[in-house]
Amino acid sequence: MLKLLYPDSFVKTIFEIDIEELKARGIRGLILDLDNTIVPRNSAVATDELKEWLSRLEQQGMKACILSNNWKQRVSSIAAQVGLPLVARAAKPRRGAFAQAMKVLGTSKEETVVIGDQLFTDVLGGNLAGIHTILVVPMSNHEAPHTKILRKLERRIMKRRTTREAPNLR
Ligand SMILES: [Mg+2]
Repeated sequence: MLKLLYPDSFVKTIFEIDIEELKARGIRGLILDLDNTIVPRNSAVATDELKEWLSRLEQQGMKACILSNNWKQRVSSIAAQVGLPLVARAAKPRRGAFAQAMKVLGTSKEETVVIGDQLFTDVLGGNLAGIHTILVVPMSNHEAPHTKILRKLERRIMKRRTTREAPNLR
């Protein structure tokens, strides 16, 4: 059961992800969480660094879709700023959310990766859907109240893993 909460790999930020390596593995589509994965939860602005990273992705012929449980106007504004399709109010870890995102991407689960900052939504959902999962360290300490509670549990779970290559999860 615990295995379903373990990511396949972890990095500090999305910018550390080796896009060429993903491509070499046959990955064609990325499902990106929004809050604290591509922008801090308290920010409504897509940074130039993010835009550049996304354009590198595009140059490699890869697609991306934002999959967020959030539904606020800020979420669609960020998606529009970076020009990515958005599936909002996704109710991750619900499996259907990931199926919906793959439909948008036009990819199979073998050709897709899920990238997110939460074990109980992004990682669990990705694992349930049979998709490779990459965990990132949350970009900010701004969290929804229920997320704050889950963070403590996340830290405990990640501690159980071999910690040598794990980033420090706050
Ligand atoms: Mg998040």
